[in-house]
Parts: sequence; C-alpha cells; structure tokens
Amino acid sequence: MTQRLVVIGWDAAEMSAASAARRQQGRDELEIVAFERGNYTSYSACGIPYFIGKDVAEASELIARTPQQFRDNHNNIDARTGHEALEIDLHRRAVLVREQVTGRETWEGFDQLMLATGAVPFRPPLPGIDARGIHGMQTLDEGLALRAVLEQERPARAVVVGAGYIGLELAEALCAWGCRSPSSGVPRPRCPHWTRTWAPSSPQRWRGTGWRSGWRRRSPGLRPMADRSPRW
Ligand SMILES: Cc1cc2nc3c(=O)[nH]c(=O)nc-3n(C[C@H](O)[C@H](O)[C@H](O)COP(=O)(O)OP(=O)(O)OC[C@H]3O[C@@H](n4cnc5c(N)ncnc54)[C@H](O)[C@@H]3O)c2cc1C
Repeated sequence: MTQRLVVIGWDAAEMSAASAARRQQGRDELEIVAFERGNYTSYSACGIPYFIGKDVAEASELIARTPQQFRDNHNNIDARTGHEALEIDLHRRAVLVREQVTGRETWEGFDQLMLATGAVPFRPPLPGIDARGIHGMQTLDEGLALRAVLEQERPARAVVVGAGYIGLELAEALCAWGCRSPSSGVPRPRCPHWTRTWAPSSPQRWRGTGWRSGWRRRSPGLRPMADRSPRW
C-alpha cells in the first residue's frame, strides 16, 4: 500500500530530506506532499542580502527548484506554496492546513510526518518593533519586500540592529543603495574568531561608507524618523 509522507516547510532541510526519501522509495510506494507557507521553495536564504545589495539581479536566481520542477523532475513531489500548517493531530495522524489565498482549511492525513520549519528569528520586545519601515530578514518574501522599499522609496538612512554575519551583509547591501546610518549602524559582531581589527565591522573597514559602528550600544526602542527622513 502507498504510504503518505507529509512535509511541513519547504526550504533547505526539507528539500534534501524529502529528495532522499524519494530516492529510497518510488512514487508507487511513497506519496510526498509538502506544505510551505511562503511563496517560494528551495531558495538560497544566504543569497538574500546579495539580492538586496543588487549583486544578484533577480530573486529567481536564488531559487534552486520551483514547485513545478519538483512535480515534473523529482518524481512527483507535490510541493504546495502558500499553505500553512496550523495544527497536528497525532491520534488522527493528520495536519490542519490553511490555504493562504482562500483561507480554506483542510485536514491532510499522513503516515509519516517531517517537520522542517526552520528557526524563528528573535525580534526583541522593544517599543516600536511593529512600526512601519522595520523589516525582518529571514525569508525570500521578506527580502523582496525590503528590495521593493529600496527601489520605490529610496530611503536615505538605515539602521541595522543585530551583530552577526547577516546584519553585516545587510549593512553592506544597504551601502549599495546609498543608505547612510544616522547614528549607530554597524554593530560589533558576536563572532568570537573575529579580532577587533580584522572584523568586518572594524572602523577601518567602514570608513568612507557613511556607516558608523554602534559597538557596545543597545537599542532602547525603535521609532521611524518620519520628521527627519520622510521615506522611513
Ligand atoms: C539572510 C540569511 C543569510 C544566511 N546566510 C547564510 C550563509 O551565508 N551561510 C550559511 O551556512 N547559512 C546562512 N543562512 C542560514 C541558512 O539559510 C539556514 O540555516 C537554512 O535556510 C536553514 O534551512 P531550514 O530548511 O532548516 O529552515 P528554513 O530555511 O528557515 O526553512 C523553513 C521553512 O519552513 C516554512 N514554515 C515555517 N513554519 C511553517 C508552517 N507552520 N507551515 C508551513 N511552512 C512553514 C518557512 O516559511 C520556511 O520556508 C542564512 C540565513 C538567512 C536568513
């Protein structure tokens, strides 16, 4: 009898795992259905800052495989974007899935369930965290939203809150749009193997870019500068 594997989330982890499952069992033995709440599958999240910085021209260049390609070329893996998993009923062995566009909810049965929903980025509970002009940076949808703002509104100033690789890559990408930091823009990286002078956020590295380091500074809250910078 054909087993049914349901996959929740469809980016790096699930693409590898489900493709491996398919290699072991053909479509007569295993039906694979994947639900992804976003609009894209199997994309390079690592490339998003480079799409924002215009090194990558089109978002489509970051996509390794579309749902159609999974259906056509990868032995019938049914990857459905715009579908969010809401609830799992282990007794019934079923997942409640909502189709984002229509709002229609259905229970999808499974024999095996693969959870590959990734990590949830930390959004600090600062005053103003939900204000307009504050962007997160995890999914391709978020990358497209930020790039659209940069193209259409041409903001003059930007602040990056976050001290890791992604924050620094984004600060560099924003330089490509001529954004400047109003006060503290490039935070100290929290990567232990970066020395103070070698680190990408060392003052020497950013000299002349219009960005200033906010080392050892902490954001007490967030407020869009509507009065001084109308675009943000
Ligand atoms: C901007 C950025 C830059 C990065 N750069 C690098 C790098 O240079 N080098 C490196 O090694 N790593 C990098 N990473 C990390 C790397 O992208 C991740 O480690 C990798 O994407 C993790 O893959 P994943 O499949 O586990 O999770 P994710 O890629 O997060 O995928 C999880 C998927 O599950 C979906 N999902 C979540 N909940 C539900 C639900 N309830 N229903 C349906 N779908 C759901 C999400 O929409 C998402 O598409 C970067 C990440 C980001 C965000």
